[in-house]
Amino acid sequence: NIFVGKNMQDINEKMNKLGSERSAIRELFEKGKELKKTYGEKKVFDFSIGNPVSSPPKEVKEVLIDLITNKNPIELHGYTSAQGDIFVRRSISEYLNEKYSAETNEEYIYMTSGAAAGIAIALKALVNVGDEVIVFSPYFPEYKVFIENAGGVVITVKPDEKKFFPNFYDLKEKITKNTKLLIINSPNNPTGVFYDEEVVKKITEILSEKEKEYDKNIFLLSDEPYRELLYVDKKYPFVTNYYKNSIVTYSFSKSLSLPGERIGYILVNESCNNAKKIFESICGAGRSMGFVCATTLFQHMIPKILGLTSDFSVYKKNRQFLLEKLESIGYEIVNSDGAFYLFIKTPIEEKEFSKRALQHNLLLVPSESFGIKGYVRLAYCVDYETVVNSIKSFKSLYEECVKDGNK
Ligand code: PLP
Repeated sequence: NIFVGKNMQDINEKMNKLGSERSAIRELFEKGKELKKTYGEKKVFDFSIGNPVSSPPKEVKEVLIDLITNKNPIELHGYTSAQGDIFVRRSISEYLNEKYSAETNEEYIYMTSGAAAGIAIALKALVNVGDEVIVFSPYFPEYKVFIENAGGVVITVKPDEKKFFPNFYDLKEKITKNTKLLIINSPNNPTGVFYDEEVVKKITEILSEKEKEYDKNIFLLSDEPYRELLYVDKKYPFVTNYYKNSIVTYSFSKSLSLPGERIGYILVNESCNNAKKIFESICGAGRSMGFVCATTLFQHMIPKILGLTSDFSVYKKNRQFLLEKLESIGYEIVNSDGAFYLFIKTPIEEKEFSKRALQHNLLLVPSESFGIKGYVRLAYCVDYETVVNSIKSFKSLYEECVKDGNK
């Protein structure tokens, strides 16, 4: 073919780079599939990706069967409004108002293909070229992709390495007149850390102070796919109750174990300054990226399943078991209260550790892609048997690293 390889202008180089260099998580996930073919499913301990192992609640299937059986197929498989069907958005708003004593409005909810689309749309809607967007490291790696795609500049704030809350001093330092937005994620991927009310208050107080100082709006985007995945009995501080200029992205991927169905939403706080304009821009950003009319079947399921979750007991069991066993081996693990991740301090450099872990058929994501060094992330949303059988490998890996370190 005379056209092959002729003209690199055929493609957008930035997009090519994103597509040809897979994320560290996806890279390991693919590697895991290969290893499973070679060694068999049971001999590979794949802790690489946040794919929930717990089945969706039985009501999900029942509602879907009912919809498919009884709903007019033209309606069920047809387009909804670009931002989603109003009765679905109303049910979400009513649920949030009841559950979190919030004051949300259905008119400011936009249905999306998961939280990923939600974050990408929200950033595209707000960010102008050169605007600074702050993230707390360690952070979900796709934030960087979405921020840069929107033309923004990623600014990272250090963690307080004891509790892995944000370093508030650093946050104050990093907010400038160019700051457009701060992204928070609690319970957190990759650390599992939960920001309780005190932490959220601290963050929002700093944002309010800085809004005054610079006489401008600074937005807070709270990315909440793990909102219900909490192992402590504490209330979830819903951000619109604490900060006016807030936006929430949510997903049913983790709470209902439906990551492949791609359903979630964006909520703009009704009392945000310029809320109407912001929501219009969200509709425009969705349009510009082709993210309109999230899957109708799953939109229509939502009003009937709000408030339900998958059974999280397997995560609880895995978590307790892993914490106990890994700490007794000698691993240091960040204290966490939610999601389904453990963030483990590595006894040697993290990429080398992850490479060596592979030789024990253990798949652990090195922390560099989360914007920090010295750790690996373990996703324990796998079956209990995998967790139990993995301990031998963790032990040999640790002994091998410590022995080599002492040479
Ligand atoms: N945000 C965070 C923090 C995540 O961990 C994930 C997925 O793992 C997403 C967003 C994207 O989720 P979704 O499957 O809803 O697109």
